Amino acid sequence: MVDQQNIKLKLSNPQDIVILSHRNPDGDAVGSSIGLARFLQKWKHVVKVIFPSEYPLAFQYLVNEQVQPMIYDLQPQECLDVIKRSSVIFLLDFNALDRIDKMGETVMFSTASKVLIDHHIDPEPIADIVISDTASSSTSELVFLFIQSMGMADRIDQSIGEALLTGIITDTGSFKYSTRGLTYRIAGELKEMGIDDYRIQNHIFNSLEPKNLKLLGHCLANRMVILPEYKAAYIYLTKEDYTLFGISRGDTEGIVNYLLMMKDISLAALITEQPTIIKISLRSKDDINVQQMASLHFNGGGHKNASGGSAYAKLDDVISRFVKVLPNYIKHQTL
Ligand code: 5GP
Ligand code: MN
Repeated sequence: MVDQQNIKLKLSNPQDIVILSHRNPDGDAVGSSIGLARFLQKWKHVVKVIFPSEYPLAFQYLVNEQVQPMIYDLQPQECLDVIKRSSVIFLLDFNALDRIDKMGETVMFSTASKVLIDHHIDPEPIADIVISDTASSSTSELVFLFIQSMGMADRIDQSIGEALLTGIITDTGSFKYSTRGLTYRIAGELKEMGIDDYRIQNHIFNSLEPKNLKLLGHCLANRMVILPEYKAAYIYLTKEDYTLFGISRGDTEGIVNYLLMMKDISLAALITEQPTIIKISLRSKDDINVQQMASLHFNGGGHKNASGGSAYAKLDDVISRFVKVLPNYIKHQTL
C-alpha cells in the first residue's frame, strides 16, 4: 500500500510503470496518459501506456518513439504481461475497472501500487491512491497538478505540455464547458512554457476527412429527431450508415454537441448501432443530469452534462428506452 505522501518516495527509485486508460480513448485519455508517461520516462522509469481499443488518428501527433501506446484489442497477451510485470499502475480518466474490459481483472489481482487520477462522478475503490476531482476540467488538468504537487512542474517540457493541453482543450470543448479558474491558469502556464495551442487546436479540430462532413450532413438532415415537448433531441445511426459512409466509431465524436446548439434543446443523445452493442452518448445544459440517466438506464456514467453508456439490445429498443425515461430528467413542456 502506498499513500500520496510516499508515492513520490516510491517514484524516486526506477519502477516498471503501466498507464491504463479507458476504451475508445478520447483526447483527455490519450493526452493525460502520454503526458504522464513522458514525465515519468524523464524520471528514468520504464513506462508503457495501454488503451483497450485504438485511439483516434487525430491524436497521432502526440505519439513518438518514446511512447508508443499498446492496444489491448491488437495484442491482448502482451498487454496483460506488461500489467503483471508492473510495480506501479496508473489508472487515468476512468473510475471503474469494467471500463478497461478484461484488463480490469489483472489490475484487480495485481499487488502493484495503484494510483487513480480521474474526474468522473462516483469513483469505485480500485486504487491505493485516489486523486479524483469532479470539479476538474479533465484528467490532464489533474496530471498537471499531480506533477506540480511533487514540486516538479519545471520538468514539464514541450511534449508533456502539448499532451496535457490536448486533454484540457478536448474535454472542455475548447474552453466552452467544465472550466474553472484553475483550468485557464494551467492553460496559461502551459502557453507561457511555449506550448503552441494554435497547432494543437488545428490538429484536433481541423483534421477531418470529407467523409466526416458528409456523415455530419447525413446525421443532421436524415437522422435527427427533435422532441420539443421535452426540449430534447437525438440522432441515431444504423450499422448500414457506418458501412455507407465508411466510418468507424471514433468518427462520430462531437456530433452529439450539434444538437445543443439549438436554443430550445437542453438534452441531446447520439444513439449508435455498434457491431455487438448499442452505444449512447448524452449531453445536457445547466442542471439537467445525464450522468444519472446514463448510470440508471444505460449501464454507464460520466459527468453531469456529458455521459455515456451502452446496452445489449436493438437500436429501436434503446431509442424507446431513451424517450421513455426522458420525463424523469426534463419536465414536460406545454407547447
Ligand atoms: P462520450 O459520450 O463522449 O463517449 O462520453 C462522454 C462521457 O461519458 C465521458 O466522460 C466518458 O468517460 C463517459 N462514458 C462514455 N461511455 C461510458 C460508458 O459506457 N460507461 C461509463 N461509465 N462512462 C462512459
Ligand atoms: Mn476526461
